[in-house]
This record gives sequence, structure tokens and C-alpha cells, in this order.
Amino acid sequence: MAVIPVALAGREYDVVIEEGLLGRLAEAAAPFLKAYAGGRRVPFVADTNTQRLYGESVTANLAAHGLEVEWFVVEPGEDAKTWGVLEKLCDWLLAMGVTRKDHVFALGGGVVGDLVGFACAITKRGCGFVQLPTTLLAQVDSSVGGKTAINTAAGKNLIGAFHQPSLVLIDPLVLATLPDREMRAGYAEVLKYGLLGDAAFFAWLEANGTKVLAREPAALEHAIATSIAMKARIVAEDERETEDRRALLNLGHTFGHALEAETGFSQRLLHGEAVALGMVLAARYSARRGEIPADDAERATRAIAASGLPASLSALGLTCDGAALVDHMRHDKKAEAATLPFLLLRALGEAYVARDVDLADIAAFLDDELAA
Ligand code: ADP
Ligand code: ZN
Repeated sequence: MAVIPVALAGREYDVVIEEGLLGRLAEAAAPFLKAYAGGRRVPFVADTNTQRLYGESVTANLAAHGLEVEWFVVEPGEDAKTWGVLEKLCDWLLAMGVTRKDHVFALGGGVVGDLVGFACAITKRGCGFVQLPTTLLAQVDSSVGGKTAINTAAGKNLIGAFHQPSLVLIDPLVLATLPDREMRAGYAEVLKYGLLGDAAFFAWLEANGTKVLAREPAALEHAIATSIAMKARIVAEDERETEDRRALLNLGHTFGHALEAETGFSQRLLHGEAVALGMVLAARYSARRGEIPADDAERATRAIAASGLPASLSALGLTCDGAALVDHMRHDKKAEAATLPFLLLRALGEAYVARDVDLADIAAFLDDELAA
């Protein structure tokens, strides 16, 4: 078991990682369930998959402690992060009589976590919530740090708020049912922590990645705890991304978002897969600028490819050119500028924000990668 505090002044909360935690929810989340002891029902949000797989055990565990659960269940996938679903969820929370002192429980991946977090940010001007992340991506990344959002016609995650959870309970056992492709996509964000800030962790992942992907308990818990510890540290230093610290977490994401946009945010390329390829591109571009040896870029690429993640832009079979991908980046950042901040590598295990990157050069680099 690992307990990692997220040290935000006045709003410190814990991330607890332990096998079987979901089956012991009533004890693990006891302080946040007190308000419901008088016979009120505990609001739980899940998607149809997480409700079907883990809803019963949660309901049974709370029932054994005299607590009754009421479910709000959404369809799986990004379509749950819409104004329409948000409105229904907020209306439901109000109908449940949720107050600012209450806590709503989010049982699911990043989609459920983002939706519930945002609903709780705006309901009664902010009520509490507890994250019960069930995907590796949500466990190592999106459930911690307080970024919440929905998608709109203009793009993904453009409407949202910073709203920190009161507790994050991570049960690695739930990853047993996660499809392998989703597991690998989440693992891309694990590799990200190694590449951006911890060379020793990256080397450990090179040696133990297979065990993590196979859900071997000790390896999995170490990978999650190390990732969360780094995220917690960075979030505590720069909660709202006003300095460059939190931006480091975007390693691989500028390239990655462009690839997601080009593939229409579809199942063709999951977020984590796009980030994996984005990290390959960031490493290879860093080598092209002479900041890391070509061998290091090769090493990063190998680690990503070895995990079964996409590591070659040309293999993706895109029909666009580099300039089209750069246009997505410009659009993404709402900037018509000739330059954008890029997350590059100074070494394997050390990312930095480069502000002198010429977008025409990025387009030329991407043309080379598309043809490689
Ligand atoms: P992410 O966490 O990557 O943002 P989602 O929240 O969209 O992703 O979840 C990805 C998919 O995995 C969804 O279809 C969701 O229902 C499903 N899912 C989430 N957690 C589990 C789990 N523990 N076992 C099986 N499927 C899961
Ligand atoms: Zn990401």
C-alpha cells in the first residue's frame, strides 16, 4: 500500500494505492461518507462498463456499512463529456440534495472523472468528490491534479475548471478487466513520467514494462505510485500551470494532439497512443536539434515500440503533410504565431519547455518523419 499526499495549501488530499481497495471502500473513504449516515443515498457516477463490472461490489460494501447508493450511469466514451450529459448530471445532483459538504463518487476512467469533477466544480459553486479511477490512464494521470472538463463543438476539454478531489482511491486490481489496448495507452503516460523527469524510473520501465503491462501486482503498484508521486509533486509546485513546471506533464502532447485531431479523435488513435508517438517525435526532434544523442532518441523509441505502442509516424498511414499537422497545433493552442512552446528533452529523464521552436522547421521535420 502507498499513500501519496498532494500538498496543496489548505486543500491537501491523499492518493491511496492498494489492491482490493474498492472492496473496502466504506472504510477507505469513511470521512467522506459520514454525511450520508442519516439515510441519505450516496451519489455514484459510472459508465455502463464500470457500473456493470464494479457497481455491485461497491453497492454491497456500502450496504454492509448501512449506506445506500444511487447511480448515475453514462454511456462509455468521450460522448459522455458533453453539455447535455453535464446538465443531466448537475440536475440529478441537485435533485439528490447534494450540498457543498457532500462528496460525489466517480467510478470510471478519465471520461467519468473529468465529467464528475466538472459537475462538482459548478454544482452549488463547488461540492466535494472522490475519484475511483478504473483505467491506468486515469490512475496515473487524470484523476490527480484537479483538471476537469467537457468537450464542445470547438474541441476537447475547452470548457472546464480546476477542482481538486478530496481523495483518490486507486485499486490496481480493477485493471484486470481493462482491455489490453487501453492498458497500453495508459502505460504511455507512465513512460512519460520517466522520460520527463526520472531517468532511473525510465530505466526501470525498460526492464520491467512487460510486468507492468501484464498487471504483475508489485510492478504495477510501483509504476503507479512512482507516476503519481511525480504528478503530485509537479501539481503542488504549479497547480494552475502558470509556470513551466506543470507544462512538463504535456511531454508528447503537442505532437500527440495534432495526431488525434488529424485522426478525428477516433478509435484509430487513442489519446495514450497519440502521446506515445508524440514522445517519439519529441525525442527525435530533440536529437535533430542536437540536444540529446541520436542513440537516446532511439532508446526512447525502442521503449515505446516494445510496449506495443505506435512509435513510427510513417507507419500510421496518414495522408496529410507536416504543415497540416502544424495547423492542428496552432488551432489547438488558439495561436496564429510562428512559434509555440514545445516540450523537448535535454536528456532521457529531463524535459524542458523550448520557446524558440520554428513551426516551419517542425513541419519540415514532420514531412521527413511521414516519409521515413
Ligand atoms: P480514459 O481513462 O483513457 O480517459 P475512458 O474513461 O474513456 O478512458 O475509458 C476507456 C474505456 O475503458 C471505456 O469504454 C470504459 O468503459 C472502459 N473501462 C474503464 N475502466 C475499466 C475497467 N477497469 N475494466 C474494463 N473496462 C474499463
Ligand atoms: Zn495525456
